[in-house]
Parts: sequence; C-alpha cells; structure tokens
Amino acid sequence: MQQQTVPQATPVSFLAANAPDMPVHFFAPAALDARLAEFCAGFDGMVTYAVKANPDEAVIMRLCAGGIGGFDVASPDEIALIRRLCPHAALHYNNPVRSRDEIAFGIAARVDSWSVDDAGELAKLIALGVTDCEIAVRFKLPVGGAAYNFGAKFGAEEGEAVELLRQVAAAGFKPALTFHVGTQCRDPNAYGTYVRAAARIAQAAGVTIARLNVGGGFPSARDGAPVDMQPFFDAIAGAMDAFAQRPALVCEPGRGLVADSHAYAVQVKSLRAGRVYLNDGVYGGLSEFPSMVVPTFRVVAPDGTLRSGVPDPRIVFGPTCDSIDQLPDPLPLPRDLAEGDWIIFAAMGAYLSGVTTRFNGYGDRISVQVDHL
Ligand SMILES: *Cc1c(COP(=O)(O)O)cnc(C)c1O
Repeated sequence: MQQQTVPQATPVSFLAANAPDMPVHFFAPAALDARLAEFCAGFDGMVTYAVKANPDEAVIMRLCAGGIGGFDVASPDEIALIRRLCPHAALHYNNPVRSRDEIAFGIAARVDSWSVDDAGELAKLIALGVTDCEIAVRFKLPVGGAAYNFGAKFGAEEGEAVELLRQVAAAGFKPALTFHVGTQCRDPNAYGTYVRAAARIAQAAGVTIARLNVGGGFPSARDGAPVDMQPFFDAIAGAMDAFAQRPALVCEPGRGLVADSHAYAVQVKSLRAGRVYLNDGVYGGLSEFPSMVVPTFRVVAPDGTLRSGVPDPRIVFGPTCDSIDQLPDPLPLPRDLAEGDWIIFAAMGAYLSGVTTRFNGYGDRISVQVDHL
C-alpha cells in the first residue's frame, strides 16, 4: 500500500489534483477523534477498540493519542502491533479459540483479559499457566437487530455460560461476562436484552462479576441513517439495574468507532451497456458488499464535479478476472457516468484494511489523510 503523507482538504480536492490510478482510502483523523470523544463521554465505562476493524497504524496511533484505555485483540500479530504502537494499553484477547502457541504468546505479552466460550478452552488456558487476570465468559442469545450474526460462530449458550462462569471464579480468575450483539446493530434494545441476560447468568452462577464487556456492534452511517450512540449507551445503562451488584463496564467497538471517519474512492475503468468495471471489487476494499448494505456514495468526474444524472441501475464488476468479482446487486449510478469517474463510498473505515487480498495482482491503494470527508 502506498502512503500519502501530504494532508489534503477533501477527497474530491485530492482526486482532482492527483488523478491517481488506484483506489484511495481517505481518513479524516478529526472525525475519529470526535467519535472517540462521543464514546468516552457517553459510555459509562472503559472504551476499547477492536483492532481487526481497522489495524492501520494511523488509526491505532490516533486512538492511543486520544487516550483509549485498551484494545480487543485476536491474534499474536494484533497483540504485537498494539504493544509496539500503544505499549501501555490494556490487551483484551477476545478470540475464544487459540492454539497453545498463541496462548503462550498472550501470556508473554501480559494479556489483561481473556474470553472463553468453552470448558476445553478454559482448561487449556489453565494448563498453560494463565493466572492473575480476568477471564470473560462469552455468551450468546438468539437476538436479532444486527446486520450479521456473530453468535453463529462464538458464544456459550446461557446454561453453559453459567457453568463456565462458576469454573472461572473457582479457578481464582477475576470473573467477567462478555457478548457481541452482531455488527452494524441498529437496535439499542439488543444491548439491553444482553445486559439483562448477563445479570441472570451471574445470579444463576452465584458469582459477582467484576466487569461486563458489552462488545462491539455499534452502527456506522453506511446505511445512510445518522448515527447517535446515546440511545445505545442509555439502553446499556438502563439494563444495568438488573445486577444486584453492578460490574464495571467495558465496550469494544470496531465499526462504530472507525467506519465513519473514512471514505473509499474507486474509479470507473470501463463502461459497457448496463455494465461498469471498477478498479476495485469484492477481493479488495469492497469485500463487505456481498454481506452488508451497500454504503451511501456520491459520484464525481475526474475534475471533481458532482455527477447528478438520474440514477440508472448498473451491474458492477471488480478488476479481477473472476466472475465472482461482482457486486451482489445493481448499483444505481448516475446516467451521465463516464470512464474515469470516481465513486466515493462513505463510512468505509471498517473491514477494508486487513481484508484486502492480492488476487490477480490487485490490492494496492493509496491512503490519504483529509481535513473533511
Ligand atoms: C469484531 C469484534 C468486535 C468489533 O465488532 P464491530 O461490529 O466492528 O463493532 C468486538 N469484539 C469482538 C470480540 C470482535 O470479534
């Protein structure tokens, strides 16, 4: 990836002045600062960041400089990244499936909190000598509201979670509970339901938990609706009454923290009847498009003028020679669309960096910091 260091005013001013022959990822650090401040002011607990959402060093360093307390990490590489860029931040190793070597790496890095969703994985942590830290039992509920179901992969059922929490407390760890409502969750009640379930699990286990980690899942503006985190914070705070003894709170947003501070510009390489070929697709920065709502976008000509033609649905292909490299639904693109135009997608800070492949020799992009998106 090429890094552009000269700060630019806006994506449009950069594209018009530089005419790059590559997709461009725009980052507005001020927007990230503002969203972090919103979390820190509104969320009544520790704000951490899920590194996998966007591991770009500029993002991690900005969050670290902004005083973020910790990071949700899932692998030795992510642990090493945080230890290098933000050495004093807390590490929450919340991928509940780990190899023995990965566990040893986490112990050496002095991970502060580990999540588990299975008795065998807990036994593995104990056998390898994990001590003196928090262990958070990850549970799941059959709740809707998110764009993507995280419970399909991780999380103990409520009954199993009760048993695991007892084992965690009996083994002398600081007991905690955690969950993930699913990404791009637009329903604040999903958090309330999960918080009340956590209180139920703690009570059934007879364990006073030290912390409750409400996970990520907070929405971005990719669906076009404005984002206001306050109803989510209120739903969480309101449901905490269910606890006889209130645990401290932790959240670990990925998308909700980072998505809206970025935009992504892709260029029209070729136009045919009803078909558009772009310089990036589902193997690159648009990898989320098959599973998520297509982000809001605008189209500009190479000189930066906005295309305003009537929207015409077109089939859109990426640059690789693979027929899967196609957006799932036709995109309503302006009728005056021309070769060389840029489509600038909003809210593209999450699940783009780190997800891009090198398939067919593509995957390069330029990163540019801007004052405004
Ligand atoms: C991916 C992940 C997150 C972040 O999820 P978002 O939907 O991006 O907020 C938080 N916690 C864990 C354990 C995760 O795996």
